[in-house]
Amino acid sequence: MRHKLFIDGQWCAPVNGGTFPVVNPATEEVIHHAPAGTAEDIDLAVAAARRAFDTGPWPRMSGRERAGYLRAMAEKILERKQELGHLEVIDNGKPLPEAVWDIEDTAGCFSFYAGLAEELDDNPEETIALSEPRFSSKVVREPIGVAGAIIPWNYPLLMASWKVAPALAAGCTMVLKPSELTPLTALELAAIAEEVGLPAGVLNVVTGLGPDAGQPLSEHPDVDKLAFTGSVPTGAKIMAAAARDIKNVSLELGGKSPFVVFADSDIDKAVEWIMFGIFWNQGQVCSATSRVLVEESLYPALLERLVAEATKIQIGDGLEDGTLLGPLVSRGQHDKVLAMIARGRREGATIAHGGKRPHGLDTGYFLEPTILTDMGEDNTVWREEIFGPVVCVKTFRDEADAIRMANDSRFGLAAAVMSRDKTRCERVARAFRAGIVWINCSQPTFTEAPWGGYKQSGIGRELGRWGLNNYLEVKQITSFESDEPWGWYM
Ligand code: NAD
Repeated sequence: MRHKLFIDGQWCAPVNGGTFPVVNPATEEVIHHAPAGTAEDIDLAVAAARRAFDTGPWPRMSGRERAGYLRAMAEKILERKQELGHLEVIDNGKPLPEAVWDIEDTAGCFSFYAGLAEELDDNPEETIALSEPRFSSKVVREPIGVAGAIIPWNYPLLMASWKVAPALAAGCTMVLKPSELTPLTALELAAIAEEVGLPAGVLNVVTGLGPDAGQPLSEHPDVDKLAFTGSVPTGAKIMAAAARDIKNVSLELGGKSPFVVFADSDIDKAVEWIMFGIFWNQGQVCSATSRVLVEESLYPALLERLVAEATKIQIGDGLEDGTLLGPLVSRGQHDKVLAMIARGRREGATIAHGGKRPHGLDTGYFLEPTILTDMGEDNTVWREEIFGPVVCVKTFRDEADAIRMANDSRFGLAAAVMSRDKTRCERVARAFRAGIVWINCSQPTFTEAPWGGYKQSGIGRELGRWGLNNYLEVKQITSFESDEPWGWYM
């Protein structure tokens, strides 16, 4: 575990010398004191990224050369996947197999964007057909400049890769600020960048608290682009900070995603995907399908089966064999989720299962998988993101009712539908007001496909080609090709 920040290719102590504690959520032990970067460190990191962009080789080398570095990073990440997965578990709490899966996905993200960096060389410009034959026009794409990335704690290294890999592929330089709850693997990513010989200043990692390090990064006048993943309130602050200097900004925010289950669904498949949609990563997933809408006739049988299966989930330290549900990330998150459940009950919800600390797990931020029913559509637990293993289940009458209820939210990140009727699934998928829709499943995510939300769930898209475009400017070059005078003034 590292005690220094990574700025301009060097490991350096924070200017103010501060640290913040890193806690293992399964044991509540302080496992590390991470370097607490502040505005002074952000100034140094942005200056390094600025120099690397303005005068360094990175934006000037070919896409193929940049791809070589990205592929080397992917290889190093894969080589270290068990160790990096272990760090994610003691930092975030998730079960080890999930953490290792995340690390493999992270490596895959670097490889994918290596391929897109090469494609930039293969398609360096696009000719635009003009209505005026005396002119020609072409479009070239260029890196935006210095990018600032601020990320959350739920998928620490994977969320970093969704920003670092496309930014580097595009030729941008970056300052990365990971969450103060999970700073460990971002510093390892810096070590990997150093190991593969990434030029100094291309990737800088400053750990620290949101207001002390994140805010100065979002407000820094030399940052050209802000890429943020996190909560809606912080997203609003980032957008306000970006407004001052008209920075390009992309936001991946929260959700309260619906899962509509029609009565013709296979009950086993429905229950398994519902559980995957809300208990994976302890429900701390932006796209978690936390509102389950079940057609009335299927509801009693489905609820009974869901409760029966939820009771079988093995809860424990993410490092223990067989654990499927680890602790929540922090005491604050544990308290927040319990407070939400209590509020939901006061507003009329019933606990069908869970809702409390599991018996025998007195230390660690553990919570039983929780199933809430009987809530009204105005109940806080039905409307607001809980970000824990808590699913709300309600009935719907018919397709129109399901679509109305599903879309009645200020969020629009994801939505899922299950039915044996493929035509109906397609119809409902089109009717959802959400950026990501799953048919007959919930949560599988692919680096090749775009990711992002409607409404308050964000602005812009990550992953796929859309992720690369976040870091590219579009330059349009028009030439007057005629030998004739223009003939306006003369
Ligand atoms: P958060 O908003 O509390 O923090 C996110 C990051 O912002 C952290 O690095 C934090 O230090 C930083 N930050 C805090 N205050 C800041 C400020 N004033 N200025 C600049 N930076 C600041 O979110 P979180 O609790 O870490 O993450 C959970 C949230 O993230 C949930 O709402 C979840 O839905 C969302 N999320 C969204 C996606 C997506 O792809 N849409 C993915 C993962 C998580």
